[in-house]
Amino acid sequence: MTRIFLSPPHVGTRERELLLDAFDSNWIAPLGPHVDAFEDDLAARVGVAHAAALSSGTAGLHLALRLLGVAAGAEVWCSTLTFAATANAIIYVGASPVFVDADPATWQLDPALLAEALVDRRRTGRLPAAVVVVDLYGQCADYDAILPVCAEHGVPVIEDAAEALGATYRGRQAGSFGQMAVLSFNGNKILTTSGGGALLSDRGDLVERARFLATQARDPAPHYEHSEVGFNYRLSNLLAAVGRGQLAGLDDKVAARRRVNARYREGLGDLAGIEFMPEAGYGTPNWWLTCLTVDAEAFGASVTDIRLALDAADIEARPLWKPMHLQPVFGGCTALGGGVANQLFAHGLCLPSGSNLAPADQDRVIGIVRACHQR
Ligand SMILES: *Cc1c(COP(=O)(O)O)cnc(C)c1O
Repeated sequence: MTRIFLSPPHVGTRERELLLDAFDSNWIAPLGPHVDAFEDDLAARVGVAHAAALSSGTAGLHLALRLLGVAAGAEVWCSTLTFAATANAIIYVGASPVFVDADPATWQLDPALLAEALVDRRRTGRLPAAVVVVDLYGQCADYDAILPVCAEHGVPVIEDAAEALGATYRGRQAGSFGQMAVLSFNGNKILTTSGGGALLSDRGDLVERARFLATQARDPAPHYEHSEVGFNYRLSNLLAAVGRGQLAGLDDKVAARRRVNARYREGLGDLAGIEFMPEAGYGTPNWWLTCLTVDAEAFGASVTDIRLALDAADIEARPLWKPMHLQPVFGGCTALGGGVANQLFAHGLCLPSGSNLAPADQDRVIGIVRACHQR
C-alpha cells in the first residue's frame, strides 16, 4: 500500500501537452504566450478584470501590500488562523501584524470582533493600513459583514484566497473580493503549477504595476534603467502552461474535493465527539481540506491519538494551522482575541483531501478513525 497524502498534486494529459508545447516552442524564457493566456483565463474564471501570474502566493501578498503603499511601522491586521505566509508578507514591508481571532460559526476571521476593534482604534487614532482576510480551508470569509465595515473606516482589504480558488460567496468567486486578491498554485493547493501564484484585481493600474514590480521594476528604456527596487516574482511560461491545463479542470477538482468532504461526513458524522468544519451557508466551499475537531472525552480518543494511528498506517493527517499569535516568530505581536483559534488548533485535524483520493483509500482513512473511537 502506498502512502496517502494530505493534498497531493493532481495533473493530467492536458497539462503535459501544454507543458510540452511551451517547451517545444522554445518559450523557456520566463515570460511568453502561456503567461498571457493563463492571466486571461484566470481573470475570466474568477470574474475580475485583471490578473498577474506570479512565482508564488506569498509574492502576491507582498506585492499587494506594496501596491497599497503600506509603509514601515504601520499595522496590518490579518486572520490569526492561517498559514505563516499571510503574516510573513506583512513583515516583508516592515509593518506589524495584528492577529484577529476566528468566528466559531465559520472558522473564518470574526467580522464582529473586527468591526468592534476598528471602531475602538478609530477613537484612539490608529487604524490599520490594510486588513488581509483569509478564506480558510476553501471557505470564503463573510465579506458582506467585513467589506462595508472596512470601507466605512477607509481601510483597504486584501483577500488571501490561496486555499479557496473555485469556492463561491453569495454567487461570487473567491478571488474577487477586496481591492486585490491573491491565489496560490503551490503543490498542495487545489490547482498546482508546482509553485506559483497570482494577484487579481478589477483595477488595471494595480495589476499593471504588480507586473512591473515583479519583473525587477525595469523602466522603459533600451538599457536597464531602474528608478525603483523591484522583485523577481513572475511565473515562468513553462509553469503557466501547466496552470492553463490545471485551470481547465478546476470544476472537476472542486467537485472531487466536495465529494471527499461529503463522504467523510457520511462515514464519520455519526461518531460522538466529532464535529466537521461548519459550512457557513453563504456560499459553496471548495473544501480544499476536510477538517474536523475532536472532543476527546466524548470520542474516547484524542485528536493526537487519531493522527498517530493514521500515521502508523502511512496516512498523512495534520493539525489545523497553528495560530499566528502562538508562533514564536510573532511572539511580540498584538492579538485581538485568539481563544477560538486556540481551541481549534488544540482539537482540530485535517484529513487527506486530494481531488485524486481514491474511494478505497478514503475508506481506509475512515476505518482507522472509526477504530480509534471503538477502542
Ligand atoms: C499556501 C498559502 C499561502 C502561500 O502561497 P504560496 O504559493 O505557497 O507562497 C498564503 N496564504 C495561505 C492562506 C496559504 O494557504
